[in-house]
Amino acid sequence: MSQEHTRTPRTPFSFELFPPRSQAAQDSLPDTIQKLARAGPEFISVTFGAGGSSRESSLDVLRYILERTSVQPMAHLTCVGSSHHEANRLVREFLDAGVTSFLAVRGDPPRGSVEGDHFLGDLGTASELVQLIHRVQTERAQYATVPSRTSAGLGQIRSARPKVRVAVAAFPNGHPRSHRPDQDIDVLLAKQTSGATLAITQLFFHADDYLDFVAAARSAGVTIPIIPGLMPVTSPTRLTRVLELSGEREPVELARQLETAESLEEQFAIGVEHSIRLANELLAGDAPALHLYTHNTHRAVLSVLEGVGLSETPSAALTNSKESA
Ligand code: FAD
Repeated sequence: MSQEHTRTPRTPFSFELFPPRSQAAQDSLPDTIQKLARAGPEFISVTFGAGGSSRESSLDVLRYILERTSVQPMAHLTCVGSSHHEANRLVREFLDAGVTSFLAVRGDPPRGSVEGDHFLGDLGTASELVQLIHRVQTERAQYATVPSRTSAGLGQIRSARPKVRVAVAAFPNGHPRSHRPDQDIDVLLAKQTSGATLAITQLFFHADDYLDFVAAARSAGVTIPIIPGLMPVTSPTRLTRVLELSGEREPVELARQLETAESLEEQFAIGVEHSIRLANELLAGDAPALHLYTHNTHRAVLSVLEGVGLSETPSAALTNSKESA
C-alpha cells in the first residue's frame, strides 16, 4: 500500500460508528471500538437513529467509549420528534453520562414517514439544537469555585464554566433538499453563529467537491474547521446504498472498478486505494483533519490511515481477517 506523506505533527482523525442493530453486531462492537481506539483518534462519534429510536443503544456505545477507552466520544443528536422539554431532558441525560462533545443534526424523517417537516418536533433546524445544547450546559454547569488570596484574607473566585464541543453537518455537494447552490453555505454560517465549533461533511468522492466548498465557505465568513467525511466503499452493494442515503452522484470510475473486480479482496483494495488517494489530495489541500465513516468495521478505515501515514498501530490493527469489508 502506498504511503505518500509522512505527516508531522500528526494530522488529527476521527471515526463514526452507529449503534448496533442486532445481537451479533452488539457482540462484535467492543472489539471494533478497541481496535479503532488504539489508532489514536481525536474522537469517535456515534450516530442517533431516526426519531430517537437508538437513544438507549447510542448511550450504551458512548458509555463504553467513555469508560473503556481513552478516546473522547461524540454524541450525534437530532431534532426529530422532540418537544423543547424532551430535547432539553435528552441533552441533560447525555451530559450527565459524561458526554461533552455533540454533533447536532436536523435528522431525517423516520423510514416510511411522509415528506414534510411534521416529523421534526419543536426544533426545526440543527442551529436551534446547537443553541439548545449550549443553553442546557450553561444552566447545568455550576461555576467551579476555587480559593484565592484577597486583601481581606482567603476568598473565593469563580472560574469559567466547562464548555461543550458542538459539531454540525456540512454538505459540499449541497443537501439533496437545498433550494439553491449557496443555501448550504448560508446554513453553515448560521450554525456557526449559533455556537457550532466544528463541521463534519457528508461523504463525497472528489477532492474538489470539498476544496471548492471550503473556499466558498471561507469567503462567506465561515471560520470553524470543516472536516472532510470519508467512507472507504469496498463493494458495489455498499456504493449503491451509500448513494441512496446521501443523494451523492455516482463516482463512475469507482463504480466501474468495483463492478469488474474479480474477488472481494480486490474490491476491498479498490475501495481503500480510492479513499487513500482522496485523503492525500484533501490533506495536500490543507484539510485540517479526516473523519472516517467506519460502517462499524475497522479494517478498511485503518488501512486508509496506514496508507496516508497516520496510523499509530499499522498492520497490528489489521490482523482480523474474519472481518468482512
Ligand atoms: P439543517 O442544518 O437544519 O439543514 C441543512 C440543510 O438541509 C439546509 O441547507 C437545507 O438545504 C436542507 N434541508 C433540510 N431539510 C429541508 C427541507 N425540508 N426543506 C428545504 N431544505 C431542507 N441523521 C440522523 O438521523 N442521525 C445522525 O446521527 C446523523 N448524523 C449525520 C452526520 C453527518 C456528518 C452528516 C453530514 C449527516 C448526518 N445525518 C444524521 C443526516 C442529517 O440529519 C440530514 O442530512 C438532514 O436532512 C440535514 O441535517 P442538518 O443538520 O444539516 O440540517
